[in-house]
Amino acid sequence: MCGHGSQTTVVGVSDSSFASLTTLRVGGEPRAIIRCTSAEQLAETVAALDAAGEELLVVGGGSNLVVADGPLDLTAVIVANGGISLVDATTVRAGAGAVWDDVVAFAVSHGLGGIEALSGIPGSAGATPVQNVGAYGAEISDVLTRVRLWNRRTGVDEWVPAESLDLAYRYSNLKFTARAVVLEIELRLRPAELSAPLRHLGGERLPLVQARANIVETRRSKGMVLDTADHDTWSAGSFFTNPIVATECADTIAAEVGEAGMPRFAQPDGREKLSAAWLIERAGFPRGYPGACAPARLSTKHTLALTNRGSATSDDIVALARDVRAGVEKRFGVILEPEPVWVGVGI
Ligand SMILES: Cc1cc2nc3c(=O)[nH]c(=O)nc-3n(C[C@H](O)[C@H](O)[C@H](O)COP(=O)(O)OP(=O)(O)OC[C@H]3O[C@@H](n4cnc5c(N)ncnc54)[C@H](O)[C@@H]3O)c2cc1C
Repeated sequence: MCGHGSQTTVVGVSDSSFASLTTLRVGGEPRAIIRCTSAEQLAETVAALDAAGEELLVVGGGSNLVVADGPLDLTAVIVANGGISLVDATTVRAGAGAVWDDVVAFAVSHGLGGIEALSGIPGSAGATPVQNVGAYGAEISDVLTRVRLWNRRTGVDEWVPAESLDLAYRYSNLKFTARAVVLEIELRLRPAELSAPLRHLGGERLPLVQARANIVETRRSKGMVLDTADHDTWSAGSFFTNPIVATECADTIAAEVGEAGMPRFAQPDGREKLSAAWLIERAGFPRGYPGACAPARLSTKHTLALTNRGSATSDDIVALARDVRAGVEKRFGVILEPEPVWVGVGI
């Protein structure tokens, strides 16, 4: 299916499922799995499936996906075109299939700052623009200059400026639309000895290598670095986005809970961003909810991660997500929006 690509591998449906392709480790078998190791193979594969009218799902690291149980009538197209290089002194280019954390390591090892706070985020480089990944005060939109896209509607392979993606908080016009496939990305970084100010360290700046190590360790303590042995990391990361609400709504919640220091962050449009994790906890869902026997539980390290304890199905994860979302809505009137992409299933 990947055209001239001798490196393309078609894996039989019987030996693989989305449980092995995603970090939540749930989901049924796709019709086929096609692994593409070059940008051209990726574009050709998607073009051929589109021309044949066949459903497909582009899959990077599978770390932001909730896929339904049972057989799925779609082909999983695995993005595996790696490669990380310097275009000039401050511009890094990465193939969509490069491991994102390897891109960060590459930048740091070349004394380039700007993405060290995004250390340890699982998944592929090509997926970082899809939801404008962010952590610890940094977002990919801060440094992304352009993206090479395979446009599935026009059949054009072109570099487009980052501005054309409508990048916003955990959003781009690529997310949920599947209108295009990211083939490569380019980042403009800055020569630096010190990191950007690190929010979780009160604005302190550290040497780049130390900053990266600090971020990874901080993330690990919250189960936010993948670790096969740690079920708290069998997740899709933060399961809900932080809700953005009117100031009056934030005031009402703060008054109702009656605790000092509710996390609330002013937004440019005058509204306020609340912490989904804080709301979930205050709505009566502690870490580890609903308890030791449940196959799907909130992480014991981070309320915002829904985790598979080993035997969870997609239905178990969805049931837990519905439970938590309904509880927060009932208590605060705030409807949490899931962050991952849902396939064949919905909340
Ligand atoms: C433990 C853990 C911690 C996390 N921490 C963070 C965090 O701090 N910040 C954050 O923002 N996210 C975080 N995430 C979420 C996730 O890692 C990111 O969203 C990541 O960018 C997803 O990459 P992926 O390659 O795994 O994408 P996938 O899960 O494979 O795909 C996600 C979506 O992107 C699409 N997609 C993937 N590749 C391409 C491509 N090349 N072209 C077009 N569409 C594509 C897919 O079709 C799907 O719709 C975390 C996840 C986990 C499991």
